Amino acid sequence: MFEKINVLGAEISNATVDEVADYLALRVAQKENTVVYTPNSEIIEQFRKDETLLELLNSADVLTADGIGVVYGAKILGTPLKGRTAGYDVACRLLEIGAKKGFRFFLYGSREEVCQSAKENLLKRYPGIEIVGTQNGYTKEPVGERIASTSPDVVFVCLGAKKQEQWIYENKHLFSGTALLGIGGSMDVFAGVVKRAPDFFIKLNLEWFYRLIKQPSRFIRMLALPRFLWQVVLEKLKGNR
Ligand code: UDP
Repeated sequence: MFEKINVLGAEISNATVDEVADYLALRVAQKENTVVYTPNSEIIEQFRKDETLLELLNSADVLTADGIGVVYGAKILGTPLKGRTAGYDVACRLLEIGAKKGFRFFLYGSREEVCQSAKENLLKRYPGIEIVGTQNGYTKEPVGERIASTSPDVVFVCLGAKKQEQWIYENKHLFSGTALLGIGGSMDVFAGVVKRAPDFFIKLNLEWFYRLIKQPSRFIRMLALPRFLWQVVLEKLKGNR
């Protein structure tokens, strides 16, 4: 299991994308469930306001630092992480491994047509994987038992922050030997509805800036990043770290 680094209450796993994906593949082989949440600074900010939510977040087996704010936060606190571990990147690496091992994937979240495009694209891009089912993210019916009955090795849960973590928390007992990943808007990227930032932006740690230009409506949400870093600085000044 990975070393945990506390960033404003969130116990972030100090692990690279490859390390997380390899670990998940190993757990699948061992027939153990594994829960992965992928918070960025905005999500940690939301969850730390409520002790129960923070506990829920920290109940994950692996918490990856999805955003650059978390990486900077850890650095400022004097406990640097190996780097950013975006949920989408972990998912892609796991799909690569899954293509060799014939893993069974289930896609849950987003609108029906987005799920179907994601399925088509992933089957083309990762020949060797099986997609054992899809479920849109807007049904009011409980879907846990149906998803579990397909015996997936991996479930991508893309319902957006809070909803996806809560769903995984409440339904994980239905699964066995399954990696359950809460990976937000990744379904939209698999489907090609939303584009991931070009490498140039990612390498310069400017993916947030690219998303801001593409989706200016996210501006208010993005103010969470400087607020989060300010909280980190206060924590540091208080001498708690
Ligand atoms: N979504 C969903 N059901 C809902 C609300 C949202 O399936 O009830 C999906 C939505 O279609 C989108 C994803 O969840 O694909 C949320 O993406 P976002 O980038 O907002 O995720 P976040 O940044 O909150 O993790």
